[in-house]
Amino acid sequence: MFIDDTIAAIATAPGEGGIGIIRISGDRSLSVAQQIFRSMSGKSIEDYNTRTLIYGKVVDNENVIDEVLLAYMKGPNSYTSEDVIEINCHGGFISVKKILELILSKDVRLADRGEFTKRAFLNGRIDLSQAEAIIDVITAKTDMAHEVAQNQLEGSLSNKIKELRFKVTEVLAHLEVSIDFSEEDVEEITYKTLRQKSEEIRNEIKKLYDTAESGKILREGLKTVIVGKPNVGKSSLLNSILGENRAIVTDIPGTTRDVIEEFVNIKGIPLKIVDTAGIRETEDVVEKIGVEKSRESFNTADLIIMVLDASNKLSDDDIEILQQIENKRTIVLLNKTDLNKQIEEDMLKQYVDSNSIIKISALQNEGIEELYDKIESMVYKGSVKNTSNLMITNSRHKDALSKAYESINDAIIAIEQNMPYDFIEVDFKNIWDYLGYINGDTIKEDLLDTIFSNFCIGK
Ligand code: GDP
Ligand code: ZN
Repeated sequence: MFIDDTIAAIATAPGEGGIGIIRISGDRSLSVAQQIFRSMSGKSIEDYNTRTLIYGKVVDNENVIDEVLLAYMKGPNSYTSEDVIEINCHGGFISVKKILELILSKDVRLADRGEFTKRAFLNGRIDLSQAEAIIDVITAKTDMAHEVAQNQLEGSLSNKIKELRFKVTEVLAHLEVSIDFSEEDVEEITYKTLRQKSEEIRNEIKKLYDTAESGKILREGLKTVIVGKPNVGKSSLLNSILGENRAIVTDIPGTTRDVIEEFVNIKGIPLKIVDTAGIRETEDVVEKIGVEKSRESFNTADLIIMVLDASNKLSDDDIEILQQIENKRTIVLLNKTDLNKQIEEDMLKQYVDSNSIIKISALQNEGIEELYDKIESMVYKGSVKNTSNLMITNSRHKDALSKAYESINDAIIAIEQNMPYDFIEVDFKNIWDYLGYINGDTIKEDLLDTIFSNFCIGK
């Protein structure tokens, strides 16, 4: 892919912020900036050191558009590796828009979504997994999600993939050499070595793949549904959880969406509490959306929190819900334990694992900590957390690893059956390709476009 044009876009989010930034990248960045910028000192942009902020104004002929700070980042030491100009002007809608229009009138093209980052990738400054990490850093909802994304941006996943592919290359080289020899004693050693190396590679792929479940939750949130009969305390519970942990407020007034999501941060785990019928209204989920609809939300949930009123006997409605959530990842809360207890945990054993029953009082805020501990241990299953910050958070990476894993299994079967070397070689070439999807080395151009179209303009 050959890049020869110069692009520009507004890099800051729309709205009335203090500053707005316009970014230009490409060969003509400097000459365009020279046409529209006058420094207060009277010196020209190249008189300053690269990456210095220069105070001045943007002018259209002699009309002053705004007072700005301009930085010139000469390639390859820039975001895209190309010559980049960034202009910091006043925020709001008009300054940025006028300056951008002026730039675009100088034979500069408006950047596509994610095109600055795409150029950084195409110019070899970062690999694809790092480019994708940029979105994740920006959209992270908890500290830990941010940390994992930041690590990926710094190249932790890239390095791991490089390391794995190097091992694959070693095997391929070994196979190439062996294809020319076919004496039996040589063969025996070759198969033994191949098997050993393949198992090593398989273990490493598996280990990485196994982080994907927690990784996905970290990046996208654990989709959680709170269910239970009317009056058992669902709203009280939700308020108690939201009260301390609301991560971001997503209020979109006047929309007719029937699903409202609340992000809360439970011990570093983002929970996306799906409020299918407006839990914040006084209505009750099960009552309002009916059995059919609630079954639907059960099916797509990562976690179901079922609330029971322990001060009342177990009713048919409770049992119906309990039957529906069997075999799902569920926590059952025995609420109102500050009152006289009418439900014993034993009664629930035929429906749920006793490990996932917790006694709480939403009213008195008791047992909520245990709920959080339970969620944490369910998500991490006691293994993944904190061993390293290398996690597969992206479903594209997960798919590629799963394909690589299938191929290494095929290879191992072929080796066990002493299949011809060129047969085994095919599997290893596949593994090489699949791992290359992750860092972008072997990815097709149309897929690249799809990936970068998930970015916003200006990134
Ligand atoms: P929902 O219909 O399931 O959302 O239940 P609500 O959260 O609206 O609660 C119904 C009633 O039960 C309210 O009067 C709450 O104050 C009360 N309630 C909720 N949790 C508790 C609790 O732990 N103990 C006691 N004693 N009352 C509670
Ligand atoms: Zn309610």
